Amino acid sequence: MASQRPKTILIVEDEPEIAQLVKHYIEKNGFHSCIAKTGLEALEMVAIEHPDLVILDLMLPKMDGLEVCKAIRNKPETALLPIIMLTAKNEESDTIVGLELGADDYVTKPFSPNALVVRVKALFRRLERTNDHKPTSLTYGPLQMDLTRHELTVKGKEVPLTAKEFGLLEHLLRHPGRVLTRDMYV
Ligand code: CA
Repeated sequence: MASQRPKTILIVEDEPEIAQLVKHYIEKNGFHSCIAKTGLEALEMVAIEHPDLVILDLMLPKMDGLEVCKAIRNKPETALLPIIMLTAKNEESDTIVGLELGADDYVTKPFSPNALVVRVKALFRRLERTNDHKPTSLTYGPLQMDLTRHELTVKGKEVPLTAKEFGLLEHLLRHPGRVLTRDMYV
């Protein structure tokens, strides 16, 4: 059963006014939140605070949002952490890269904080629905993943995978065609 603990949302944004505005709306809606101002700080807070979702600005000094997204997805323990990216209108190519790197959704700046909260709630609902019907195995063509035993078989033959590879493959098989269907729930 889902715990009643308020969900924690990590806001990664170097502009203090935007970060505070998002924090205000997030907390007004009953979530906990924390703020990271840089990409490195974001990765530290992901490890320490174990947020339930990350709102990730793309434009960050030094380590940008795409690198942060990639680093989160590359760690098996955070490979499935929900990420909503904040992008600017003229960053369409970055948005596409972000979605390919595994961001779950994006909001274009300038954005309405209420609309962002709606996206956050929609993403949590979508994930809860997925968890309610959590499969014990995933199949894709000749691939079969046994999620309880952490085994991959291809045409019935077991293929050894590292935890990281298993996590990434599981993530891919769980989200087939996400980019094409992402507008369906908005
Ligand atoms: Ca920024």
